[in-house]
Amino acid sequence: MALFGKPKYTIVKIVKKRSMPNGLWTRCEECGEIIYNKILEENAKVCPKCNFHFTMGAPERINLLIDKDTFIEFDVDLTSCDPLEFKGQKTYKEKLKQEQEATLLREAVITGEGLLEKHKIVIAVTDSRFMMGSMGSAVGEKITRAIEEAISKRLPLVIVSGSGGGARMYEGMLSLMQMAKTSAAINKLQGLGLLFISVLTNPTMAGVMASFASLGDIIIAEPKALIGFTGPRVIEQTIKHKLPEGFQRSEFLLEHGLIDLIIPRKELKSTISKILKYFSNNV
Ligand SMILES: [Zn+2]
Repeated sequence: MALFGKPKYTIVKIVKKRSMPNGLWTRCEECGEIIYNKILEENAKVCPKCNFHFTMGAPERINLLIDKDTFIEFDVDLTSCDPLEFKGQKTYKEKLKQEQEATLLREAVITGEGLLEKHKIVIAVTDSRFMMGSMGSAVGEKITRAIEEAISKRLPLVIVSGSGGGARMYEGMLSLMQMAKTSAAINKLQGLGLLFISVLTNPTMAGVMASFASLGDIIIAEPKALIGFTGPRVIEQTIKHKLPEGFQRSEFLLEHGLIDLIIPRKELKSTISKILKYFSNNV
């Protein structure tokens, strides 16, 4: 029998959640703050409360770094073919088409030349939204051609990496070969005394990090970006040790000498401009 005449059950009132209009608000992955999208765009996709840097697509990144109306894109139509005729849950061709439609990009990298605070540069930006920014033959070829363009025009090179995927498994060995190809081209550029600034954003991993992204004369990272080769879980399982706090984040890597600077997104353009100015005056 219920004590004091209270019912034995509890009535739980379910309050209907107020629906949020789609596409107007974004929840911060780090602090949970609900941010009005317009505010987020105006703040270069950085959380105004906790400074979390949201993923930025390649076209937005070019708008952020390159002076208005000065960007000339290279190799617009160059895309991967399907040399292995890869078939998984989806074929490689289907996957490429799906990514192209979702991102409105042709491939996981945009390359070109333009002015950065009036300094003429060659720039390449990988986009983690397109097959995790992974490097297949077309990405490797576009990056290599951009490097060669920088060499022939004697221009500084800036590559912004946002690649969680590394080498693209759909192309097997051919994608792994892009690591050597891009690295060899960077080596040639640096041998001629030309400047290469590598900017690492969240995430820069695997085959991209193990090739051109880690070869910058100056390596800049955005705050708290995940940077490494293999993911932390696989490393822990292999070495059977717990990894230190913040392992593979920009701050940890700066402390251990892998990168040179951590620069918040809003100061990235002015910082690169200062470096370009210093090099053009002194080298
Ligand atoms: Zn936040």
